[in-house]
This record gives sequence, C-alpha cells and structure tokens, in this order.
Amino acid sequence: MTDTDGGAGRSQSGGDRTLAAARERDAADPLAEARERFAVPDGERYMDGNSLGLAPDAALATLERVVDEWRELAIRGWEEADPDWFHYGERLGDLLAPLVGARESEVVVANSTTVNIHTLIGTFLDTLAGTPAGPDPAAESPAVLVNDLDFPTDHYAIRAQLRQRGIDPDQKLVAVESRDGRTIDAADIEAVLRERDDVGIVFMPSVLYRSGQLLDVDRITRAAHDHGALVGFDCAHSIGAVDHDLRGAGASDDADDGDDSTGGVDFAVWCSYKYLNAGPGATAGLYVHERHHGTTPALAGWWGNDKDTQFEMRHTYEPADSAGAWQIGTVPMLSSAPIEGAAEVVREAGIERVREKSLALTDYLIGLVDDRLGDDFSVGTPRDPERRGGHVAIEHPEGYRLSEALRDRGVVVDFRPPNVVRVCPAPLYTRYEDVWHVVETLREIEAADAHLEYDPRGGGVT
Ligand SMILES: *Cc1c(COP(=O)(O)O)cnc(C)c1O
Repeated sequence: MTDTDGGAGRSQSGGDRTLAAARERDAADPLAEARERFAVPDGERYMDGNSLGLAPDAALATLERVVDEWRELAIRGWEEADPDWFHYGERLGDLLAPLVGARESEVVVANSTTVNIHTLIGTFLDTLAGTPAGPDPAAESPAVLVNDLDFPTDHYAIRAQLRQRGIDPDQKLVAVESRDGRTIDAADIEAVLRERDDVGIVFMPSVLYRSGQLLDVDRITRAAHDHGALVGFDCAHSIGAVDHDLRGAGASDDADDGDDSTGGVDFAVWCSYKYLNAGPGATAGLYVHERHHGTTPALAGWWGNDKDTQFEMRHTYEPADSAGAWQIGTVPMLSSAPIEGAAEVVREAGIERVREKSLALTDYLIGLVDDRLGDDFSVGTPRDPERRGGHVAIEHPEGYRLSEALRDRGVVVDFRPPNVVRVCPAPLYTRYEDVWHVVETLREIEAADAHLEYDPRGGGVT
C-alpha cells in the first residue's frame, strides 16, 4: 500500500499477522470480557461504532428501569424516581464528567449535538458582543474559526447563529484549510489567529469524522487563549474512545503565576450514540467551563433555570449556576436513560484502558492494511498514536463499492466520500480477530474483483 502520512512510518506493532496471533492477543486482552456486555450481532463484524455504538445490556436495563418508573410512578417520577427525573440531566453529567476531564457542575446531558452547537456558539457570540450597556455597535463582529474538513452540521449551525446576529457568515465563518485533504495542521490554526485579529471563537472537532485525526486540543486551546479568543470542541468522535482533559488543556506553562483563568477549554459538545453506545438519537452532552457559569444561554428555556426556583414559574429567567443552564426543555427521559448504563460500562472499563486498546486495535489494523492489501489501498489516518482517534480511514478509488461488498459479507463499515471506507474497531466489543477478518475479507474482495459487481455510487445513510 501507499504511505500517505508524510513518512511518519509504518505501524508500530509489526509482528505476526496470522489469525492465530490475533486470537492470542484476544486471549491476553484485559478488556475482552466487556464484549459480553453488548448485543453483538450474530455473524457480523461490526465496525461502525463511531456512527452508532452497539447496545450494552446495562443501557437497556436503565432504559427499562425508567419505563417501569413511568408505569408505576407517573408524574411522581420527577421527584420519587431514583435517581429523580428532575435532576437527571445533571446526574448524567456527573457520570460523564470524568470522561472529559471536567468538574461535575461543568457537564450536563441535554438536547442534541446540533442544538448544543447553536446554543453555545450563540451564547458566546453574545458574550463577545456584550458590554455592560448592551451590544457595542462600534465593535467589529467576531469571526468563528473552523476548518474545511468539519462535519457539516457544525457549519450550518454556526452560520445560522452568525446570521441571526446580523453577521455575514461569508465574512465571519473562517475555515482553516487542510493541506492534504485529510488532516488539519495546528500550525495553520495558529497562522490564521496571527493574521486575523477578529477571531472571537475557535471551534474545532477533537477528532475529524472522516480521517480520524485527533487534533491537539491542548495546543489549540493555548493558541486561542493567547490570541484572546474563546475555544470550543466538538467531541462527538472522541468521547468514550479518547480520554480528555478539557479543564487542564492549554494551562499556562508557568505554574507559579497563580493565574488559572486562561487554561481550560471554554465549552464542548458531543453525542451519546457513537462510542458512548447510548442508542440512536440519544440525548447529547455538553461542557461549559465554570468561569462562564451564570451566563445567559442563547437558547434559554425553563429547564435551564435554577432548579430551586424553576417551579415558581416566574417570567424572569434565572440561569442555573452550572452547565445545567444550557438545558432548554424537559429532559427526554427515554432518550437519556440508556446513557446511565452505557456510561457505567465505559467507567468500569476505565477510559485510559479503553484508549489503550483502541490504539492497539487501530495500529494492528493499519499494519494489516500495509502488509496484506494492494497498492490501491492507503491509510488516511495519522500513524502517530497521539494524533489518531478511534477509527481508521482506508482509502481506495473504489471505496464505495468496497464498502458495499464488505457489508454483503457481514462486515459493517461505512463510506464517506470521496474515497474513504471508515473502519472502527470500537474497543469495548471488538476483538483483534474481528480486525483480522475485516482485512482478510477486503483482500478476498480485491483478489476476485468482487466489488466491481456493485453500482459505482449509491446514496442513503451508510
Ligand atoms: C455525529 C456528529 C454530529 C451529530 O450531530 P446530531 O445533532 O447528533 O445529529 C455532530 N458533529 C459531529 C462532529 C459529529 O461527528
């Protein structure tokens, strides 16, 4: 295969590429038993956990508990269920906080990822425009810095929030350009920050959805803060697979200066249905650094009111003094309950161990692609483990047909245009043996040209 990673080298693991060796690694895997806690489809190699994680038994159990509470308690569930429904978004936030390196009060489960981008970008655009006397008409409108490989919904939401403030998104949504079509260089983010003095918010993904590059959250946070900008991350493709330290990111190198006001990511969003395995459309999560607590959210709603006065039903909104303020309406209990059990599975495995196994699996996968597949295949994901998320982008000019052929042979992957087959060995339920079979199936398809029997390009959700 062709190396597309600037010579960063071949996979780290080298070694024995036999199926027997893969099985030995499974036998020695400290996380092997976690697989038994998931509904793994029979006869399939499920490699799509970065789009929709498999169902953990524990998530189904917490969902069923809430259904029972509804049946038995009805309205009393808001107070008498255990945990009570009224504070459920906050309680789930407490469970997720260690996964992102935040304090409990800084995380809440609420809304969808797209809605959370709307309310948080809107909130911080308002903060930037605000003076004690209200919006300052003389001030230059702030720009939001993103990148040209982003997941589309992020740009749609940010453009809408700019437009609603009378700011022209064509001028003020600024996308850092990728040099290679796969990755974003932190130096290029820094260069835009130096060139433009109007960047108010830097908003980046932690992991790019197509190539799987893990961005340098620490360096980007420091760069944004050095230039007086706020910084937010979309962690949809990393939560549950990569350990995060959102509060610690970008902390000052000079530990003695006693100033912790500049460190820490300002805000973040993520969804719960990818590596967190909480089910299709499960309620999303968000983080807001505590220095911003008390700010009025752009999309205010009664569920973000201070819980102590929410039911006084006043017409003046009083934001909760926590990330809970960014809730909008009633917590969707049935879409949130699975998060309770699903988060517990990740916590019991330990996010550091999950990350370690994830890196070992993706390294193993990259090594197999190198050694067993032809020159038309290449790896679009960084080989440096510090720059790699939880999935691998296998590139091939016939990527679409290959992904269809794989699916027909029980290997569930997805395709992202123009040429990427995404393969996600989700560490909680994927074995080395499965990874071996994925590459073996690709090799067989290639050898028989079996993918040429498929339409060159289809449509729909993959
Ligand atoms: C999956 C994903 C989303 C999904 O947003 P929804 O509101 O849940 O549809 C958003 N951003 C990124 C980067 C994603 O990977």
